[in-house]
Amino acid sequence: MRVPVHIVDRPLVHDALVTLRDKQTTPEHFRRAATRISVLLAAEALRDVPTMNVTVETPLGPAPGRQIGADVVVVPVLRAGLGMLDAVLELVPGARVGHIGLQRDEMTAVASQYYSKLPARLDASFVLMIDPMLATGGSAVVALDLLQRAGATVIRMICIVAAPEGVALVERHHPGVVIYTPVVDRELNAQKFIVPGLGDFGDRLYGTV
Ligand code: URA
Repeated sequence: MRVPVHIVDRPLVHDALVTLRDKQTTPEHFRRAATRISVLLAAEALRDVPTMNVTVETPLGPAPGRQIGADVVVVPVLRAGLGMLDAVLELVPGARVGHIGLQRDEMTAVASQYYSKLPARLDASFVLMIDPMLATGGSAVVALDLLQRAGATVIRMICIVAAPEGVALVERHHPGVVIYTPVVDRELNAQKFIVPGLGDFGDRLYGTV
């Protein structure tokens, strides 16, 4: 089964993506654009989150409504994923949050785990993994392995730029995970950066360039 890549093709998403790609964008504006695009991507990834029917009392009487009826768990992959977390929590304030820390070897681009703290009982949760750059797919696969070992069954991944190699690797190892991204870029360069991409997301987010 092929992993469904859900391309989020919306004007506001593209507008924020241009700001993120622009090498002149300062960390301050980069952070704002990252929040903007993450809200839009998360809204799409949560389009069919289970809801429950409720009745709410307005000042004029009862009104029917629907509220989130699933345990939503957001898992940023450190450190770049943190740039998307506040946006998702703005949409789902009651979400539980797990953290996965992965480090990419500068020479080999191989990801290794240095931290993991996940909420308990993920088996019935709606898990949103957030990692802005799906490049080789190596870190995504390591993080998804961890989530599956912790019991997660319903997992969606949100990224801001993907590369064909990353999509293919996730497809091979985690065919049930749906990837939400605005774009699949052309290729990876020799240093395994996405081209044209936007550079090092974490560095641009935190001004550590
Ligand atoms: N991580 C980044 O921040 N940028 C890339 O292009 C690839 C991985």
